[in-house]
Amino acid sequence: MEEVSDSKITTKYIFITGGVLSSLGKGIASASLGLLLKQRGYTVTIMKLDPYINVDPGTMNPFQHGEVYVTDDGAETDLDLGHYERFIGQSLNKNNNTTTGQVYYEVIKKERKGLYLGKTVQVIPHITDEIKKRIRVFNGEYDFVIIEIGGTVGDIESLPFMEAARQITLELGVGNTLTIHLTYVPFIKSSGELKTKPTQHSVKMLMEHGIKPDILLCRTEYKIPGEERAKIALFCSVDESSVIEALDVDSTIYEVPLMFNKSGLDEIVLKKLNLPLNELKIDTWATFVRRIKYPKDEVKIALVGKYTRYRDSYKSIIEAFIHAGSINDTSVDVELINSENLNDENIEEYLAEKHGILVGPGFGSRGIEGKITTIKFVREHKIPFLGICLGMQCAVIEFARNVCGLEGAHSTEFDKNTKYNVIDLMEDQKKITSKGGTMRLGAYPCVLAEGTKAFESYQKHQISERHRHRFELNNEYREILTRNSMIFSGLSPDGKLVEIIELTDHPWFVGVQFHPELKSRAVTGAPLFINFIKAALKYRKEKIDY
Ligand code: GLN
Repeated sequence: MEEVSDSKITTKYIFITGGVLSSLGKGIASASLGLLLKQRGYTVTIMKLDPYINVDPGTMNPFQHGEVYVTDDGAETDLDLGHYERFIGQSLNKNNNTTTGQVYYEVIKKERKGLYLGKTVQVIPHITDEIKKRIRVFNGEYDFVIIEIGGTVGDIESLPFMEAARQITLELGVGNTLTIHLTYVPFIKSSGELKTKPTQHSVKMLMEHGIKPDILLCRTEYKIPGEERAKIALFCSVDESSVIEALDVDSTIYEVPLMFNKSGLDEIVLKKLNLPLNELKIDTWATFVRRIKYPKDEVKIALVGKYTRYRDSYKSIIEAFIHAGSINDTSVDVELINSENLNDENIEEYLAEKHGILVGPGFGSRGIEGKITTIKFVREHKIPFLGICLGMQCAVIEFARNVCGLEGAHSTEFDKNTKYNVIDLMEDQKKITSKGGTMRLGAYPCVLAEGTKAFESYQKHQISERHRHRFELNNEYREILTRNSMIFSGLSPDGKLVEIIELTDHPWFVGVQFHPELKSRAVTGAPLFINFIKAALKYRKEKIDY
């Protein structure tokens, strides 16, 4: 065991595994436990181990895998990292997400360099050692490292991760690691009973991998009666106090930490690790949750994009609306609208009842004209508008075409031969794309102009927001755009990149090249989302008054 000088306690490792079913909410469970430990005064970080072979989810289709979450350091990561950041309120980095692809890539690179000195390179110990190294990367930096192991116990893919967890548990000894197994206790209607057998089987399978769970976190629709709890404890070899009920929450995932606390999860974790049960500071969080559950107002927002079949594709945006709603004491009803369906004839029908429109990020030309039609409608009808990344680029195209008279203006992403390439490949990307292409990724500073919607939202001269794009506003068109009442309220510190656009003759029209949703956290929210919702509320009230 290493002793670490500047940490209050030796870093404790908590592995979270899942059984019975996928989608039980391991990510939310990990994030919720993280929050509870943090609010009891401990330092915490959370890591996700993903069993897929992709090196990162950057190349995956949002329809299949949901949103790609980008961290400050520009890593393209699993969307669970978004949950972690939103719950524990701190920025993570590339070390918080490891994939099977990364592990093998690293090992194979080492093998090619001859670093294994002629040995046969194998899953155990070489792959597992690489995984263990990655799990231990935060050692000494935090009191707790929570490690969510992706997949469901029994999957072939996650076996090396399970084995690494087993080895670390053995190496660090009792009191330094814990395994929490998230399982499902279904209610069978016909017999009116909760069934424990799936849990027993999944724990058995975990034990076949040499891992004995310390705590069972049982997802269930109904309270688990004493008898069933005793049965689970006996058959799964845990004490009864370690069978924790994880009841379904009715309206918001942000209630999960409160529910876990009621079930005694944080208490049992600290007890098992012989750590003091410091006071839990959770009042602000509880208020945040109460305002989500019992809002005083309501607004209807349209999220116009192309990944509308799968809400997880816009996960962070939807969460940012929930945060901003709570802060404004209102519910935010977000309807996803596929821009492919929109045209001049039907746009009013789709958007008339909405109090704010967000045109979302995206790649590829499908649905672009529908987005441009949407923006024309909100600009002319003075409906609050937030354009994010591609949404901002579409706002520039719309404005160039319909206000500046640049007919056929476009982005070179979609029309290489356009006469007016108001959105063009960034200089840096031009050089890189010839060699295969990459994106501007991660957090960059942005300087705000006073007296603008952006400044009003952030109340700061310099901000830092995260990016994920290749294209940008073409500086050759700055002059004609500004002459027609578009302003650039946010620029890169050297003034070379336009990061935020606004319209002066509109109540709330803001387009941003970055992704403000990626830094929106529970309780504090994201400034642009907060003010966008405020503008939507105002719009709704004025419309009713009128
Ligand atoms: N496709 C656009 C670009 O690469 C926008 C990307 C995005 O919306 N994240 O610049």
